Amino acid sequence: MRLTLYLLLLTCPVWAQKKTIFLITDAEGVGGVCRQEQTEPKDQEMRQLLTGEINAAVEGFLDGGADEVLVWDGHDGSQTLSTLTIHPKARLLMGGLGASMLFERRFSAVAYVGQHSKANIRGGIMAHSYSSLGIQNMLLNGKPVGEIDVIAAMAGHFGTPVIMLSGDQAAANELREIVPDAEVAVVKEGLGRYTCISLSAAAARDLIREAARRSVARIGTIKPYTVPGPVTLQVEYTTRNSLPVDAGLRTGAEVLDDRTIRFRGKDILEAWRLYRSR
Ligand SMILES: [Zn+2]
Repeated sequence: MRLTLYLLLLTCPVWAQKKTIFLITDAEGVGGVCRQEQTEPKDQEMRQLLTGEINAAVEGFLDGGADEVLVWDGHDGSQTLSTLTIHPKARLLMGGLGASMLFERRFSAVAYVGQHSKANIRGGIMAHSYSSLGIQNMLLNGKPVGEIDVIAAMAGHFGTPVIMLSGDQAAANELREIVPDAEVAVVKEGLGRYTCISLSAAAARDLIREAARRSVARIGTIKPYTVPGPVTLQVEYTTRNSLPVDAGLRTGAEVLDDRTIRFRGKDILEAWRLYRSR
């Protein structure tokens, strides 16, 4: 019996491998969140809305056949989520991540909850690329990007596919452009930066639970999203954030103008690491 089991595990590596979903969370794409002050990490209502959406996603993933879900508190300094209220079967990752975003752990899949779209998108609720106040625009190999592209590309670098996103319509569109088969749960529609039509919290949770459940079956069919190297990462800061005097001395960097710097790496990991190293 033991030998049979051993042979089975040996011939079926998929069975032998735990299905772990890495769930990256943010606040601006949560249903019912439409004003800037709601994104304060200590805002009680936002915390409830976000946690509810996360827990619905966790339920869906487990229901769909995932073995475990690791939730990263990705919003503003990792101070929004609590183990008191997170789904009992999920694990909570708190704190900053390095340039590789932990993808060297080769999760089975990555998903987003509460995701917003990249900067400069019309109808994107609180749309921004990593920093609303600090960054005007970010280009990856010449293409404007935000968290959605960068995370997908970093995951893809380590062979991990994106299977699911919940957020506003603009964020869903953005992911579908690069991963057409990903499951999306659209919890609100943006009319302007701070004007939205949102589902109720209950309806948003139902939608997310279902999308998460369906998405687990996509593991193995959705290809990891990859950005071909060499990779350039161009960051245009806002006017009040002109580059420091020694910016041109940074490794792999080229200063393009007073607010714009470009990093060049052999792949996304190297380019992102150069940008992040101070
Ligand atoms: Zn964000």
